[in-house]
Amino acid sequence: MEVIFRDVTYKYNLNEPNEKKALEDVSVCLDSNLIHGIIGPIGSGKSTMLELMNGITKPTNGEVVIGKYDLHKSGFDFNKFRYDVGLVYQFPEKQFFCNTVAEEVSFAQKVFDKKNKNIKNRVIKVLKMVGLDESYLKRSPFSLDGGEKRRVAIASVLISNPKLLIMDEPTIGLDYKSKKRLMGLLKTLKTRYSKTIVIVTHDVDMLYEIVDNVVVLNNGKIVKEGNKLSVFSDVDYLDKNNTPVPSIVRVSKMIYDKTGIDLGYQPNINHLVKAINDIKENMVIQNE
Ligand code: ADP
Repeated sequence: MEVIFRDVTYKYNLNEPNEKKALEDVSVCLDSNLIHGIIGPIGSGKSTMLELMNGITKPTNGEVVIGKYDLHKSGFDFNKFRYDVGLVYQFPEKQFFCNTVAEEVSFAQKVFDKKNKNIKNRVIKVLKMVGLDESYLKRSPFSLDGGEKRRVAIASVLISNPKLLIMDEPTIGLDYKSKKRLMGLLKTLKTRYSKTIVIVTHDVDMLYEIVDNVVVLNNGKIVKEGNKLSVFSDVDYLDKNNTPVPSIVRVSKMIYDKTGIDLGYQPNINHLVKAINDIKENMVIQNE
């Protein structure tokens, strides 16, 4: 499901002395079935962009179109929109309030769909999608570990079968193992279930491994946008704009600056170490 911003400006406290332009003339198209990252320093407009995609906030000027929904127009079908677009807030598990995982996951669906047809099967299906089996159905969501809680929270959004998932800092507060599993899950949601995913985050190391395209915001404007390799290729520019740079990119650049060796795209530290070892082995063979 495509996300389009056309010349979007958003002002807080409109026409008041403390009016604040959070976004200015933002135009971008986030294509379907890809993972997109939105990054930038604090106060650059990331959350405002996310709120505009959520359909509750309307732009001061410009247009926001998500799939068939014109969010800038009043009167679009918000109930249908809620099925198609799922929002995963920061620490979504903090909003748990049900006694069992089954109730927690099915809650939103029960509110939306009064008929509740096949609800149990649908809960089992979405739990499977997030890598949890039926044994979780009767467990208390509060008894799970951090990674499991996060996956249950995502399942509770997936229950309405959204085409677009918008996520605010999805890896925040997770340990390394849970984070890795979540990253695998997001890739699966894209490739196997054809979801479009938009992630707002400071975790650029995670983003670099799983994302396709990146939007960089600064002072309410898009300063860079496109394929992750092109966006993260200009480290000096990103540093000047206080934008976080993935550690892999930084290390690769250091190696290139010192040795002239281009290690190419390495998604994570394991791949980077392997690439360095391969080069060392090649050097040994050549010197023999
Ligand atoms: P980010 O998510 O990148 O940190 P935000 O979208 O939260 O940025 O904020 C963009 C700008 O809008 C910032 O200058 C911020 O101070 C301002 N802003 C955010 N929320 C409000 C608000 N409720 N009232 C006034 N200004 C706000």
